[in-house]
Amino acid sequence: MKIPVGVLGATGMVGQNYIRLLENHPWFEVNYVAASPRSTGKTYGDAVKGRWQMPGPIPEQVRDLIVHDANIVSEALGKCRFIFSALEISKDVIRALEDEYAQNDIAVVSNCSAHRHTADVPMLIPEINHNHVRIIDIQRKNHRWKKGFVAVKPNCSVQSYMTPIYAVIKAGFEIKRMIITTMQAVSGSGYPGVASLDMIDNIVPFIGGEEEKSEIEPLKILGNIENGRIVPIDSMKISAHCNRVPVVDGHTACVSLEFGDRKPHRDEILKIWADFKSLPQELDLPSAPKQPIIYTDEENRPQPRKDRDNDKAMAVTVGRLRPCNVFDFRFVGLSHNTVRGAAGGGILNAELLVKKGYINP
Ligand code: NAP
Repeated sequence: MKIPVGVLGATGMVGQNYIRLLENHPWFEVNYVAASPRSTGKTYGDAVKGRWQMPGPIPEQVRDLIVHDANIVSEALGKCRFIFSALEISKDVIRALEDEYAQNDIAVVSNCSAHRHTADVPMLIPEINHNHVRIIDIQRKNHRWKKGFVAVKPNCSVQSYMTPIYAVIKAGFEIKRMIITTMQAVSGSGYPGVASLDMIDNIVPFIGGEEEKSEIEPLKILGNIENGRIVPIDSMKISAHCNRVPVVDGHTACVSLEFGDRKPHRDEILKIWADFKSLPQELDLPSAPKQPIIYTDEENRPQPRKDRDNDKAMAVTVGRLRPCNVFDFRFVGLSHNTVRGAAGGGILNAELLVKKGYINP
């Protein structure tokens, strides 16, 4: 029997991706959808009429579900074992709401940034910090929660370079400094997102809060559990430039990095990336990419339209690894922001949490 799940923010850009990706999922079944009071009381099909952005029709099993108000936690009780949270409201409201779901024995697997810096909340990329799930035991103790907990995903653009970065660190090459320039797709700002008149024939060199997230979140992802909290590393400095570009899906990042005293050769990095596998691959989680890091030799790749869907849109595609005149190496990374960077990444987190025994059927 499949585990019944709910999606908060089911009508939005990330929520629609959850609905699409969970159709025919081998372990999970969408049984509950919730959004703002504007959508409450409508069937899901009516609530997204005129704004369904996914390829293909709305999945049958969800089309006729009635949309509930995500702010009323009691409506979800008895309908789902855990929820994916993809709400776009103020951080304070989301933080309180996610806590309330957890308090009511409904685990929360979140895409929102509200809890990303809470010290007892894991911010997971399963290929990198799967061991951070252990902090959930402490979180439950801290709040006296029994079955509930909150686990979050990092920002979507971070996905485009963190796994390649982690792979070389894990192989023993410390990274001291990085400069990252992102070119982020419009779907990253939700629906309807940035006005078309601002995007067509244009680039917007500012995304509110995004540079700070890109500079801080990697440090927690690479951090360690110490004295009941996740302590971010302090040995790496990051400088980020984040740009919104006229691409529908797929965040691209140009990365320059400086190693510590031990510096790898180019061939070593390529081998590290080619050989890299982690727990999601060992456990054969349903949404895990078979090859988490795909290197493309073509000098003009990766490109969003051609490479974002690699390995179910869950792989990170890298290319153009070459020496850097200022730091040591530079490369280009790309991932699908609403799949690997949002709903697909959230589903992979939930699969890991099932295997680790934190979500029980
Ligand atoms: P979106 O398209 O604007 O969707 C927002 C969702 O939140 C809708 O379902 C909306 O319901 C609901 N909502 C809005 N106000 C609400 C309220 N007052 N009470 C309850 N529900 C409310 O946004 P999105 O791009 O899907 O992003 C959702 C979350 O994921 C955000 O926290 C975002 O930062 C994060 N995220 C997004 C991406 C991405 O690539 N887009 C990637 C990673 C993380 P109605 O339809 O009823 O208004």
